[in-house]
Amino acid sequence: MTRPARSTAVLVAVVVTTAPGLLVLVTLAAAELLDWRYGLLGALVVLAGGGLIARLRVPRFPEGPAPPTEMSEATPLEQAERAQLDALVAGNESVLASLPDPLVMLDRERRIVRANPAAEKLFGGGLAGRALTDVLRSPVLIEAADAVLAGAPDRSVEFSVPGGLAQYFQANVAGLPALAPDGTVAILSLHDLTGIKRAEQMRADFVANASHELRTPLASLLGFIETLGGPARDDEDARLRFLPVMDQQAQRMARLIEDLLSLSRIEMQEHSPPTGRTDLKRVLRTVASSLEHKAQEKKMSIEVSAGDPPAVIGDQDELAQVFQNLIDNAIKYGRAETEVTVTAEASRAASTRLGRPAVSVAISDRGDGIPREHLPRLTERFYRVDTARSRQLGGTGLGLAIVKHIVSRHRGALEITSREGSGSTFSVYLPTAEDQSNEPADR
Ligand code: ADP
Repeated sequence: MTRPARSTAVLVAVVVTTAPGLLVLVTLAAAELLDWRYGLLGALVVLAGGGLIARLRVPRFPEGPAPPTEMSEATPLEQAERAQLDALVAGNESVLASLPDPLVMLDRERRIVRANPAAEKLFGGGLAGRALTDVLRSPVLIEAADAVLAGAPDRSVEFSVPGGLAQYFQANVAGLPALAPDGTVAILSLHDLTGIKRAEQMRADFVANASHELRTPLASLLGFIETLGGPARDDEDARLRFLPVMDQQAQRMARLIEDLLSLSRIEMQEHSPPTGRTDLKRVLRTVASSLEHKAQEKKMSIEVSAGDPPAVIGDQDELAQVFQNLIDNAIKYGRAETEVTVTAEASRAASTRLGRPAVSVAISDRGDGIPREHLPRLTERFYRVDTARSRQLGGTGLGLAIVKHIVSRHRGALEITSREGSGSTFSVYLPTAEDQSNEPADR
């Protein structure tokens, strides 16, 4: 507080504390109940006492925002106090700057006094001085802030910021035990819940999708069982017709459960990369010959041209599962009487993508291709371009999700390119084993 301001405050305090006493003395003297000389003496005593009390009681720092101080007018003591305060604020600033969650300081009028860099990053710069409602319009948040500013206990609320991709936050509004020198009375801290909310949504969608996928063949099986146990009990013909369909539905359920278990097992291991070495050529030949029969049913052929690719770091069974899924899809979605080609080679493109020597395995088909807009979502669980066609071909909608997670566990990458009407190529990039890191061949 500056010297003139404090002097004014002392004067006001003297008047307030001595006024009743002086009034009594004046009244007594006017009524001639007191000699005016004793009255004057009494008034001097009252004024001196009141002055002393006032000087002791007027605080150096009043409650409320500190008015701007001109250093030229400040005494050395006030300058030292100011320097201490600045140091304290600077210390607080660096603590605030290091906090990852956005923090906003509010004054009594719900204006932003200050904000840390995390808040400025989220809402844009220049927050100081703006009304909170300019920045965040959530009614629940504003209500919580108003309640705390009115003296209610700290509040915690969840709210969302609508937009192309909605963001979710948990907000805590905490009142300060005493008014801060900069006018802050409450602190609003935000915690981003968007990732957690999206994961929750994905989990819920996954359960709904998996249940739906299982319910369809199950309902069909139950229907057949009921018919065979009731109206068609002695119908030999119906039994012969129904049994293969029942077998198909049961197989579909079994495949789905197998894929679901696979996916959950792979996801659990995803954080620990494999350490073994895998000879890709051998794995590709084994998988191709296991699918030969299926290809022949559509008069298709599988051409493996693997040359002599370096060994990769990998789990042989998991990599076999990757190529099984991709070659199986190439047969399913390729046109009859066409060829599926499988190539494996050390590749500069793969090495650049992974940032270390790598091998590329590419599986190409000649099918209808995949419209561009579907490509980014193909590896999501149960995502299909044409659900009915996938089901009719025996697909579970989980194959590419399994591929993605295995490749990610191998610290590799999956790239999908497709031309509508011509076909698709699924390329898997895998890091070569340490002692195999010879110069990759140009592609
Ligand atoms: P699905 O069991 O349905 O084949 P996937 O996860 O293996 O499930 O594939 C997801 C979807 O991606 C398929 O339903 C299909 O629409 C599309 N797809 C996958 N591979 C190919 C391909 N080689 N050609 C065209 N579309 C493909």
